[in-house]
Amino acid sequence: MKTIGILGAGQLARMLAISGIPLGFKFRFLDPATSSPASCVGEHINSPFEDSSALHKLANSSDVITYEFENIPVSVVGDLARIRGVYPPPIALESSQDRLVEKQFFNKHGIATAPFHPVDDLASLENAMASLGLPMILKTRRFGYDGKGQFLVKSSEETVTAFRELGQKGIIAEGFVKFDRELSLLAARATDGSTVFYPLVENYHHDGILRLSLAPAFHSEDLYKKVISQVGGILKALDYVGVLAVEFFEKDGLLIANEMAPRVHNSGHWTIEGAETSQFENHIRAVSGLPLGDPGPRGFSAMINLIGNMPDPAQVLKIPGAHFHDYGKEPRPGRKLGHITIRSDSLDKLNSILRQNLHLLPNKTANDWQNRTTR
Ligand code: AMP
Repeated sequence: MKTIGILGAGQLARMLAISGIPLGFKFRFLDPATSSPASCVGEHINSPFEDSSALHKLANSSDVITYEFENIPVSVVGDLARIRGVYPPPIALESSQDRLVEKQFFNKHGIATAPFHPVDDLASLENAMASLGLPMILKTRRFGYDGKGQFLVKSSEETVTAFRELGQKGIIAEGFVKFDRELSLLAARATDGSTVFYPLVENYHHDGILRLSLAPAFHSEDLYKKVISQVGGILKALDYVGVLAVEFFEKDGLLIANEMAPRVHNSGHWTIEGAETSQFENHIRAVSGLPLGDPGPRGFSAMINLIGNMPDPAQVLKIPGAHFHDYGKEPRPGRKLGHITIRSDSLDKLNSILRQNLHLLPNKTANDWQNRTTR
């Protein structure tokens, strides 16, 4: 039986293992956290990512290695790649860890982004304000996630305060995009280069954290053709293997890339029940050299993230078509603890079920969704 080693033992690693066990795989995780959502579905090696003896233990006891988040030092993944196959390839990590490099990478491959400006001192901050105008967004180039490490600034005073707060170096300023909606595209590429694309997903964020995903999103054929050709181009350029997620803003019918994640992604959790083959299974199939499965949707799905506290599962499971996922994490404000996917064969039915369960969403997200569906 083959073993897949995963860097990270959070909920993504757990859902990867849950989808890979029926295919006959065993799982081993390396993670510095003492308790982890994945430890019930494989062996958890409890060590820092930089611990070379733990890395060797993982590499020597695994047939292939993958990772569940993109902030692992590239040097660690590069070292592992000398001993074992590591997918997605380390170059994909390098291209996505730094928001400046990532935006340059998108532009090089003909994909539009918000205008941006690197900021490392007060002079470059002034230049960014002059070229992008206000409001703008200041973000750390590295290690930001779920809205952490970023500020929307509306005045030059706020800009200087945010610049100091973010550490004054390694910052990127981005023009503020007044988008119509947020979309994401997930794709999987196999070792032989064959590629599948999931439908576009419509996403609602609040306080920088994903709250609601709806799939498949409605859009023109042209928009989908264009986006799959663009993302297909990136996958080829990186000689990519595994699942890749790209997040976009849609404005006036055009897509503007925000960021990419070389891994399974929160906006693809609906695929567990809502697609023929989930993003988790396709990632496992890709990294283990198996053929990819059909990414087509099974009806219509809504995925609601459970942030900070968990609802009563007995109440949730009374909702028609609802599937409840509890990651087994300690509740903490702002923490992703689980998700619910509601699946239905009819969009009208799904919308009516959602309308009756808006209490599961923050008020702002519920209002945004209602405003969009009644437009
Ligand atoms: P990020 O950490 O880049 O994924 O940003 C988190 C969320 O902040 C995004 O999903 C958007 O809702 C918002 N956001 C990020 N960058 C921009 C931007 N340049 N313009 C407008 N909103 C943004």
